[in-house]
Amino acid sequence: MSYVGRFAPSPSGPLHFGSLVAALGSYFQAKSQQGKWLVRIEDLDPPREMPGAAELILQTLRAYGLHWDDEVVYQSQRHSLYQRQIDQWLESGLAYYCQCTRKQIKLAGGYYQGTCRSKRLENPADCAVRLRVEHPIESFLDIKHGSMTIPSALAHEDFIIKRRDGLFAYNLAVVLDDIDQNVTQVVRGADLIEPTGRQISLYRALGTPEVSYLHLPLAIDDNGNKLSKQNHAPAIEISNPKPALLDAMAFLGFKLNTSVRAADLDEIIHWGTRHWQLNQLPPSIEITPRFSNGAT
Ligand code: GLU
Repeated sequence: MSYVGRFAPSPSGPLHFGSLVAALGSYFQAKSQQGKWLVRIEDLDPPREMPGAAELILQTLRAYGLHWDDEVVYQSQRHSLYQRQIDQWLESGLAYYCQCTRKQIKLAGGYYQGTCRSKRLENPADCAVRLRVEHPIESFLDIKHGSMTIPSALAHEDFIIKRRDGLFAYNLAVVLDDIDQNVTQVVRGADLIEPTGRQISLYRALGTPEVSYLHLPLAIDDNGNKLSKQNHAPAIEISNPKPALLDAMAFLGFKLNTSVRAADLDEIIHWGTRHWQLNQLPPSIEITPRFSNGAT
């Protein structure tokens, strides 16, 4: 089977250094294997989105020489795919309505205990939909880091596939889309190691073999916080992409000599594709980047 990878940003803000690392890592991993690299905009949660961010992200990828294959997919246009699967599981009993509030779950110890599993609630108003977890995943194999462990209570929890407010859950949409787009491997930041267990449970519920996973080191600041849109990580430059590109490549373990540093953007991307190797990646899960090129 030929390689299909993807980059799946949420349009909650412009691309920052951490998301550039995920974009580049997934791009090099796909292109070094003559694979496809898809882009999917994960616009599932309008209240957390920034108007214009999706278009800005696409413009930024272009400016960095990261050209995707096929059409960009928007999760906001795929609700019927998600709802169809939920309806099927509600019908078969693999999913069920749940009326527990976050507060009630917190009071009961922090993990949902299956309270609504056998209540057979009929009225979906003000209810979340949960998946009955029949295949708890307590560990999985990451192609860089080996066996990754998921906390047992988390692995066994019947998790939400559609929220009380009617929004589809990230885990459900990611898995249905990756299957629908024939993705063979997911390359993304190490902040998504934990949800991977739930995502594999979804593949098991669907009877579909899961993708393979590669989690890239997560960029953290000096205080140990993830560089993220929520933490107001600065946007990467769109008009002068080279400094941040070189910093992100150094972060991914490339040894950049002076001639690479002097090359133009497309040459740098080609060079990166030719030289990308998994064993160049630093072994840590979290790293504080060094901005040697003046990128912010
Ligand atoms: N949309 C997610 C994010 O921006 C990434 C999803 C994924 O790569 O699986 O954090």
